[in-house]
Amino acid sequence: MALGEFELIRRYFVTGQQHDSVALGIGDDCALLLPPAGEQLAVSIDTLVEGTHFLPGTDPAFIARRLLGAATSDLAAMGAQPAWLTLALTLPHSDPLWLEPFAATLAQQAREYGLVLVGGDTTRGPLALSAQVHGFVPPGQALTRRGAKPGDLVCVTGTLGDSRAGLETLLRDEADSAAISHLRQRFYQPEPRLSTGIALRGIATSCIDISDGLSSDLSHILQQSACGARLEAAALPLSDALQHYTELNKARDWALSGGEDFELCFTLPPAQRAVLDRLPVRASVIGEVSRGEGIVLVTDSGEQRLTAAGFDHFDKDTHCG
Ligand code: ADP
Ligand code: MG
Repeated sequence: MALGEFELIRRYFVTGQQHDSVALGIGDDCALLLPPAGEQLAVSIDTLVEGTHFLPGTDPAFIARRLLGAATSDLAAMGAQPAWLTLALTLPHSDPLWLEPFAATLAQQAREYGLVLVGGDTTRGPLALSAQVHGFVPPGQALTRRGAKPGDLVCVTGTLGDSRAGLETLLRDEADSAAISHLRQRFYQPEPRLSTGIALRGIATSCIDISDGLSSDLSHILQQSACGARLEAAALPLSDALQHYTELNKARDWALSGGEDFELCFTLPPAQRAVLDRLPVRASVIGEVSRGEGIVLVTDSGEQRLTAAGFDHFDKDTHCG
């Protein structure tokens, strides 16, 4: 490496950021941390591997945003308040032209989400990055996958399918346009729905973030809650950019099974419907939880049973390398 491991850590990752909950940050064998008394700690880790999750040559600033956006989205899905971040980096070389934009963007995103980088690990090898995030949630208020009840509304934040379309435009190397740049931004720059997750504490009966695709992720809620769901195809929220980029059936297909939208899918008792108007982001009702199991999609031409097809990391056709 052009730069030694310790110099690299000092130069790029020691930010000097202080926080009440951090007694000792980067630089010792462990960080020493002080979770607020009585709160639960929510912990999640996410990994990005070059060739699997992003194309070789991807802008390091985009990689930093994707990494942190995806990891922090899991805190949003639990209704947790972000606190600490640890970072495992495997780098082919210590290239300042790569490290500088990566570290600067990571620091900026971490500040925006309220995460303090408190430690990590740096090794040499094929480019891979893991971000572990830690957040706080009052006991009993975390949003889990297991509380959905028949009759609850199935809701999603934002619009669906954009990220999958953004990936498509990159795979096809398509020329930029307003619609394409919006879709690419949605792919590269997930926006974890943190304040929405916190606003849904104690109200939503279940919640998940959409990382593998709506049908797959909603299936996790349904399986853990022992319910089924009926979804209205016409109610799937599609962005103007997505509808401009592709025809309706493809757009709906990507909304249902394209991954990495990082929107929240949650269930809500019908009596709580008015909450939707008070959330920090737009949320749409797309269907209803039912008895039984599996997802039925209602379209103009009838009903169809959905398989839980989403992004599966061991499916040979879904890699982008
Ligand atoms: P050890 O060998 O005891 O695991 P390291 O030499 O790997 O410690 O790391 C030294 C310090 O730098 C530790 O506090 C570790 O948490 C931190 N660190 C290492 N890599 C990173 C990184 N990529 N980002 C943030 N902190 C890091
Ligand atoms: Mg180490």
